[in-house]
Amino acid sequence: MSLCSSGWFLLFPLALIGCSSGSSPAGKVDPPPVLTLPFQGEFRVTNVSDHEYPFQFQDNNGYLLSWWGEKLPGVDGHQGYDFPMPEGTPLLAIYDGEVAFAGWENPFYCPSLDKTVSGLGVVLRHRLPNGEVFLSIYAHLSEVQVRTGDQVRAGQVLGLSGNTGCSTGPHLHFEMRRLRGSAWPVFDPYGWSGEGEDPWSKHPSGVSSVWLWAEGKAPPLFAEVSLPPNPQPTDRAPVAITKVRYMGVRDALNPNNEFVEITADPRFASAPVSLKGFFLQNKLGETFAFPDLTLEPGASLRVYTGQGNPTQEALFWNRTQPAWDNWGDCAQLVYPSGGRYRVGYRSGCTWAQGLGALASEEARILRDAHNLPLP
Ligand SMILES: [Zn+2]
Repeated sequence: MSLCSSGWFLLFPLALIGCSSGSSPAGKVDPPPVLTLPFQGEFRVTNVSDHEYPFQFQDNNGYLLSWWGEKLPGVDGHQGYDFPMPEGTPLLAIYDGEVAFAGWENPFYCPSLDKTVSGLGVVLRHRLPNGEVFLSIYAHLSEVQVRTGDQVRAGQVLGLSGNTGCSTGPHLHFEMRRLRGSAWPVFDPYGWSGEGEDPWSKHPSGVSSVWLWAEGKAPPLFAEVSLPPNPQPTDRAPVAITKVRYMGVRDALNPNNEFVEITADPRFASAPVSLKGFFLQNKLGETFAFPDLTLEPGASLRVYTGQGNPTQEALFWNRTQPAWDNWGDCAQLVYPSGGRYRVGYRSGCTWAQGLGALASEEARILRDAHNLPLP
């Protein structure tokens, strides 16, 4: 955390010398990072906020530009973050504020569902310590527990997550706005740390993004596919892939964002399984060979892409680049016999034969859109 973004300069105005006021309006300083979690727990993210560009239904450049500058698959033009979570998950105010809107959004046509819909949502208005006003928006709720005009405190329950409105699966859509003139353009509370200038901040309709999460309070950003061992009745593999985490922030620099988890299925592994001769393989054919160790029935083991000290629960591939393609991959556990247990995501696996679980996340790719009234 630099002094410039810590908020301490409010006490020491001279420290402003040398700090870029960056995106802030003239005479103002960036707000300090004060936001807390919008929900409890850890959920994967599907769509991130598109820095090139957040125009719902209009952007068609084929990718989401993440705040760390990576082009990711997802709903083009997405204006926030989608966190799939079970319906009924409590949603929390990220900061003190006022309820600017709570209820059903204005009905609009949803292309993904091919009908006119309205979802339940909450819009909060916050004044941050630098005096600037922001909106936080929670969409697709199943239940709202606040009313327009209420004052809320950080951490207060606003309602429960759901799947209402233009949404193809239960999730929270979370987005933020900052005031420019009389408009409320979307911005990214994770800021911008890609190379060069943020395309969205350079756009005539755009605004700059700033990291606003208090330390340790940012929802972690990762994508994963997770499934029980041998989900199909015909599958009987003693060791199965049960999770693939494949997207993280700057995973070329932080390759341990990624891992594949394998589990010894106690139904088909009655004794410890020797992993000698097993290996993992991605769609490019790159492999990780397991060392000579055993996995107890019911136990899981993760293989991280990067470097680290191996333990009973974690092994390391020792790569400096990602192993799992964000746009789709096929994680394969290859048995000494040559049999393969495959878990794919997005366009992942193309072979029909294997030891088990030719899963695909394709059907679970989430699409959404919103029309909540702003102040
Ligand atoms: Zn969304």
